[in-house]
Amino acid sequence: MQVLVVGAGVVGLAVARAAARRGHEVIVAEATGGVGNGVSSRNSEVIHVGIYYPTGSLRALHATRGRRMLYQFCAAHGVAHSKCGKLIVATNAAELAKLEAILAQGLANGVEGLELIGGNAARALEPDLFCTGAIASPESGIIDSHGYMLALWGELEDRGGSIAFETPVERLSFAGAQWQVQFGGRDAGIARFDAVVNSAGLGAQALARRIEGYPADQVPPLVLAKGNYFGFAGKAAFARLIYPTPVDGGLGVHVTLDLAGRMRFGPDVEWIDHESYSVDPRRAEMFYERIRAYWPGLPDGSLVPDYCGIRPKLTGPGEKPVDFMVAGPASHGLPRVVCLFGIESPGLTASLSLAEEVIDSLAA
Ligand SMILES: Cc1cc2nc3c(=O)[nH]c(=O)nc-3n(C[C@H](O)[C@H](O)[C@H](O)COP(=O)(O)OP(=O)(O)OC[C@H]3O[C@@H](n4cnc5c(N)ncnc54)[C@H](O)[C@@H]3O)c2cc1C
Repeated sequence: MQVLVVGAGVVGLAVARAAARRGHEVIVAEATGGVGNGVSSRNSEVIHVGIYYPTGSLRALHATRGRRMLYQFCAAHGVAHSKCGKLIVATNAAELAKLEAILAQGLANGVEGLELIGGNAARALEPDLFCTGAIASPESGIIDSHGYMLALWGELEDRGGSIAFETPVERLSFAGAQWQVQFGGRDAGIARFDAVVNSAGLGAQALARRIEGYPADQVPPLVLAKGNYFGFAGKAAFARLIYPTPVDGGLGVHVTLDLAGRMRFGPDVEWIDHESYSVDPRRAEMFYERIRAYWPGLPDGSLVPDYCGIRPKLTGPGEKPVDFMVAGPASHGLPRVVCLFGIESPGLTASLSLAEEVIDSLAA
């Protein structure tokens, strides 16, 4: 088949590579001038293990399977990564009870190596940490997400696929057994494809509304939850990822590490009604308070506003989180088109596994 993938984020690239590996002819159309200019370059770069999500959900399935695939991919393609491990920490009795529920969920999801440890055992691993107990997750890690996307792009090109940059997809209609696609931008014009994957991230709903015949009631709402990060000006205090227990809309302000061992903190959850990428320095106050719950030694004046990312959520504050939405012909009735909605965390981790599901559903 001639397959069009819309969006050169980590998920679109993984889908395009998977399609090319199955022998399809693949073009990726990307509105901006490079890969990973959307959500994919504005995240924590953490390889998640699949602890938090309900058993049987797409997020649980693709985080656990995708994580194993991702480690293999990184090893085979020389993508920088580190299986540095992670501690999810409790700082009081209520959080300790939450930890037990998280551990049970992780074990039910088949996550390897999880262990509940006491405060002293956690401090033996990370001396600067305050906690009353922790889940140790040895399979958690970090990845150079840009290096990963470049490796996906490289393999796509090796198999004959390509990316058209500055080429937004404007409209799609099904005619004569093929998708007729109207492009704008640099390569403006019309082209035909057998199959289309809408992997447009924050633009997925807008694009779905421009697919002729796509049922309006099958396009889910797009809810924006900004996640702000603060950098740390000093020597890293931790060698592992440190996460508090999750909060409404996110995993809590955690310690992430980059591959050079530098620490940064975030993301928080800021519900917004339009895309904006500024980090309000006043949020530092809340960051100090949250971080000091598990790292009392955080020095005054050490946090500096860094970057932010926007989660493409399908539900809002106080609402139950929902699963990734892989909308194929069974949900909207149109042939050989799949729309991906709500691909927030752990989309980076899940990408290789999710891509297999998307390609399977195109062939079905
Ligand atoms: C704050 C934050 C932290 C996160 N942390 C993690 C983490 O630690 N680990 C993890 O596994 N996941 C994490 N995630 C999730 C992960 O980053 C995303 O799931 C993933 O990057 C989504 O990739 P994507 O390809 O779907 O979207 P994107 O990267 O946004 O790509 C979509 C692309 O489509 C393009 N586009 C849009 N409309 C059109 C159009 N009409 N025509 C052509 N192109 C179009 C855009 O320009 C964009 O490049 C995090 C997310 C956020 C927001």
